[in-house]
Amino acid sequence: MITVLKQGTTKEERDQLIHWFEEQGVKVHVSVGEYQTILGLIGDTSRIDMEMLELLDIVDKVARITEPFKSANRKFHPEDSKIKIGNTACGAGAFAVIAGPCSVENKEQIEEVAKRVKAAGATMFRGGAFKPRTSPYDFQGMKAEGIELLLEAKKATGLPIVTEIMNANHLPLFEEVDVIQVGARNMQNFELLKELGKTKKTILLKRGLANTMKELLMSAEYIMAGGNENIILCERGVRTFETYTRNTLDLSAVPVLHNLTHLPVIVDPSHATGYAKLVKPMALAAAACGADGLMIEVHNQPSKALCDGAQSLTPDQFDALMDQVQKIREVLS
Ligand code: PEP
Ligand code: MN
Repeated sequence: MITVLKQGTTKEERDQLIHWFEEQGVKVHVSVGEYQTILGLIGDTSRIDMEMLELLDIVDKVARITEPFKSANRKFHPEDSKIKIGNTACGAGAFAVIAGPCSVENKEQIEEVAKRVKAAGATMFRGGAFKPRTSPYDFQGMKAEGIELLLEAKKATGLPIVTEIMNANHLPLFEEVDVIQVGARNMQNFELLKELGKTKKTILLKRGLANTMKELLMSAEYIMAGGNENIILCERGVRTFETYTRNTLDLSAVPVLHNLTHLPVIVDPSHATGYAKLVKPMALAAAACGADGLMIEVHNQPSKALCDGAQSLTPDQFDALMDQVQKIREVLS
C-alpha cells in the first residue's frame, strides 16, 4: 500500500503518521521527492482502513498495490488448484459438469434425472433441498428428506452430490454431502462462511447478485482463513438493467478470476440466463473462455418443475449440450 502525503506536510506530522503505521505492524519506506512525499507500507496492511487514512488532513491519496485476499491469491500460489471430490475433480485441467434439478421434488424425479445426467457425462449431481426463494409462499424445498433422496442417487449412480446450505445449524445434515453450495444470496453471509471454513468440505461459492469479483474473492478468503481451501467459484450472472435475461452473464469473470486466483471457476448459465434456450449457447461460450466446469439445471419435466422450470433443460437437451461442450473442449486442447 502506498500513501501520498499532501504538499506542505511537516516532518513532525509525517513522523507521527509513520509511528502510527509502525504501531499497526507495518514497515514504512519513505520517499521524499521535490513535490511529493510517498510512504510505501511493507507487510500485512489488511487491517489498515484506506478510507479512514484518506480522511486525514495530510493525506493526498492512498492506493493498494497488493490485493487484500491472500490465501486465494495466485501471486502466493501460482499453480492452479485442483479440487478433488471423490474420484472426480475440478480445476487444473479437470472439467466438472454439475447437473440436476433446481430442487429435489420426489424420488422418481431424482432417480430419473440422476441416471440421465450420469449417462450424458455429468461428473456431479445437484439438487436443492433447502431453497432460497424470493417469496415465503413458494416451495421451500424438501429439506432433510431431500438430502436423503440425493444420497440415494449418489449410491445408485456413484456421482458426488452438490446441494445448497442456508443455515450453519443444518451442517449435521450435510455430513455425507460431497459439495456444499453457498448460493448467490448467501455469498456475504460471513457467519455461514466462517462455519464452512472450519469444515473440510468442498464449497461451491456462487457470486452474489450484485457483487464484484473482489467481493467474491474476499468471501472465499473467509472460508480459507478458517483453514478450508477446498473452494470452487461460480459465476452465475449479476443483476443489471437488462430484462430479456434473468441476469447478465459476466463471462469476463472467468479470465479475470483466473488471473487473480488459483481457485477453479465454473459457470452456471441456467441462473444467468433464466431461459432453457439460452443455456446451451452460453455453456459453450463458458467452455470456450476457459471455465473449469459448468452447472446446469436439468429436469425430467421442466413444465411441472416446482422451481426454475423455464431455465431447466430436458435430459435430451442436456445430451445435446454435453455433446457440443465436448467438441469445444477438443478444439481448445
Ligand atoms: C441454485 O443453484 O439453485 C440457486 C438458487 O442459485 P443462485 O444462488 O445462483 O441463485
Ligand atoms: Mn435454480
